[in-house]
Amino acid sequence: GSIIDSNGTIQSIESDKTMSTESDRMTPRLESVEERDNIWPRQNSLSLKEWDIPYDDLNLGAMIGKGRFGTVYRGNWHGDVAVKLLKEDFLDDEHAIEAFKLEVAIFKNTRHENLVLFMGACMKPPRLAIVTSMCKGNTLYTHIHLRRDKFNLNKTTLIAQQIAQGMGYLHRRGIVHKDLKSKNIFLENEKVIITDFGLFSVTKLVYDNNLGLGIPYGWLCYLACELIRNLKPCRPTNEDLPFTKSSDTYAFGTIWYELLCGEFPFKSQPPESVIWQVGRGMKQSLANLQASRDVKDILMMCWSFQADDRPDFNQLFTTLERLPKKRLARSPSHPIQLSRSAES
Ligand code: ADP
Ligand code: MG
Repeated sequence: GSIIDSNGTIQSIESDKTMSTESDRMTPRLESVEERDNIWPRQNSLSLKEWDIPYDDLNLGAMIGKGRFGTVYRGNWHGDVAVKLLKEDFLDDEHAIEAFKLEVAIFKNTRHENLVLFMGACMKPPRLAIVTSMCKGNTLYTHIHLRRDKFNLNKTTLIAQQIAQGMGYLHRRGIVHKDLKSKNIFLENEKVIITDFGLFSVTKLVYDNNLGLGIPYGWLCYLACELIRNLKPCRPTNEDLPFTKSSDTYAFGTIWYELLCGEFPFKSQPPESVIWQVGRGMKQSLANLQASRDVKDILMMCWSFQADDRPDFNQLFTTLERLPKKRLARSPSHPIQLSRSAES
């Protein structure tokens, strides 16, 4: 484990496992990148200060929206930025603040063209905020469910491949997204930008009591079977659900379904019924989905009941790459011309 001292520096707490003598520390040890990334807080004292943005330096503009963990504002800090201001109720909780700082420490190490750019954070309570680049364009959620845009299979595949690349990178760095959903994916022109990775654990689940079980709407269908089985009615705090890389793959499956069908799986079924079905390994029927075997297989693999049976994002990327590129229907009289236009 690790703690963050008053200077915003991550210090290690030596546990049995990490206890080492001075000579151990001097001995070079070969380790994989992933292993090194996972244990760096124990090895390094890493200052977060360089990422600290004084709250007063931010020019906050209009509110963009509210989410589970706070309010997002348009802002200006050397250009357009998005500022995620954490909810106030969060501030009474020492552990939550510490968790926030750890998330920031992880966040600042991400550099990938399909991930939102982390720019800094305000880390002095009562102002806890994360500053990222401002995403242009709409979320996939807006495209699919509000504007009801239809993407052809080629475009759908390109979007999915970019998600797989961003996610593959995150997983390689040992980061589980935990909240992969169409609302957290922006489409800037043709480019996919994934947001809100890793932040889930610093949020307290806000249960909406109007929904019986109090599960936030539009969340359930991303939850893998093992997460569903761990849900408890009215869980008082954000007691950790067992999120894993495989549960991210499950969520990706749901996004693939949204892209293909323009709606959520288990559409308009009550949460109780979805929980019952998914918890027992039942999947949304694909009988009405007009798509090839390969395309449907991706859904079935991602939604596998056993977490170990789900593919990782590198495998998904390769599978998506191999999907036959669909051509526009050819008119018998102008076959060549039309097939060319389908490539462009
Ligand atoms: P959710 O993801 O559930 O919609 P959030 O708190 O993440 O909730 O976001 C609230 C609002 O702010 C949403 O409308 C979201 O699209 C928008 N938003 C979040 N992050 C950014 C960003 N980096 N750039 C632009 N808009 C953003
Ligand atoms: Mg979000």
